[in-house]
Amino acid sequence: MSKNSIVIGVDLDGVCADFYGRMRQIASEWFERPIDELPEEVSWGLSEWGITNQSQYDSLHRFAVTQRELFSSMEAIPGARKYLRQLSDEGFRIRIITHRLFIHYFHAAAVQQTVNWLDSHGIPYWDLCFVKEKTQVGADIYIEDSPENVKQLRSRGLFTICFGNSTNRHIEELRAASWQDVYDMAKAFVT
Ligand SMILES: [Mg+2]
Repeated sequence: MSKNSIVIGVDLDGVCADFYGRMRQIASEWFERPIDELPEEVSWGLSEWGITNQSQYDSLHRFAVTQRELFSSMEAIPGARKYLRQLSDEGFRIRIITHRLFIHYFHAAAVQQTVNWLDSHGIPYWDLCFVKEKTQVGADIYIEDSPENVKQLRSRGLFTICFGNSTNRHIEELRAASWQDVYDMAKAFVT
């Protein structure tokens, strides 16, 4: 397969943007607890920080997005810019696939924060898809950190690299521990 036709579907939160690092700062404010009390090793759902159900998670997440500009205030994951640019320069097509439109009537801000973040962090991309069901967006290679999304994509036979973090340690290979790993795996895919 020529790499000029290869589409890489890239998730944002937890893959390009340090979602858990920024959420930890915001959660420390939200709970009024010193940040050191909130472990960095978290599982999906953030029970380690005292979140016990979906509505608590949603409240914290909504506060983060609407009051603390979560989508424009995260640090970039190291290597994302460098290796995505390298892949893009080599002919891969970068397609961002993110589920960020989950708050009604907040879409303009969510999209604005997202595109500002992508531009200001120098992330190259041609396509930007806001969608919950990631399997509905075509790509040849998917980079994803959410355990559920990885399982769902793989169950459809889609080539999915699990971008490693503390929420997905139970997910099997292929796993990337860094953006360099992603780069190497994408290159291996075309040879
Ligand atoms: Mg994610």
